[in-house]
Amino acid sequence: MMERVYIGLGSNLATPHTQLRSALVALAALPHTHLVAQSSLYASDPLGPADQPRYVNAVAALDTDLSPLALLDALQAIELEQGRTRKAERWGPRTLDLDILLFGKHQLDEPRLTVPHYHMHARAFVLYPLAEIAPELHLPDGRALAELLSACTFTGLERLNELRQN
Ligand code: ATP
Ligand code: MG
Ligand code: MG
Repeated sequence: MMERVYIGLGSNLATPHTQLRSALVALAALPHTHLVAQSSLYASDPLGPADQPRYVNAVAALDTDLSPLALLDALQAIELEQGRTRKAERWGPRTLDLDILLFGKHQLDEPRLTVPHYHMHARAFVLYPLAEIAPELHLPDGRALAELLSACTFTGLERLNELRQN
């Protein structure tokens, strides 16, 4: 059965808007998967260490027949193809981050995968782009996206227009 999945995309290295565009092409090409919708691009202040460039973020909606772990494997392969290296520093700069925000109504707590993403409810750079493509969304625990948004400040987030996407 196809599941509706939401992916959070982020980049702050190597021309971030180009990284996101390439990642969306790669997501659309995944086997057993359709790219259903993509948000605008947003600029956001970095989480964690402040001495790094601002991020560009977006959210994509997919329909997939892949299992959650097969999708995670595929996302990590795309990250690696686009030059993601993992360093000891948490939330350090990266060419590409692809996080599974929601996987249908599944709630998973496995060593490699926690779904819904543990911190999505508090991240403006996730909630605002998500609301653009799925305004009526509810989390598996019943909370409405609109409710999470009303508790989350837009501060530090900037919706990018077509002419200025870097
Ligand atoms: P954050 O998770 O706070 O956004 P991050 O995205 O920078 O931080 P990563 O280095 O990309 O963290 O991922 C660390 C590990 O998180 C991955 O190896 C992956 O196994 C695990 N992980 C757990 N849940 C998820 C999820 N929902 N989506 C993607 N990775 C996840
Ligand atoms: Mg992340
Ligand atoms: Mg990640």
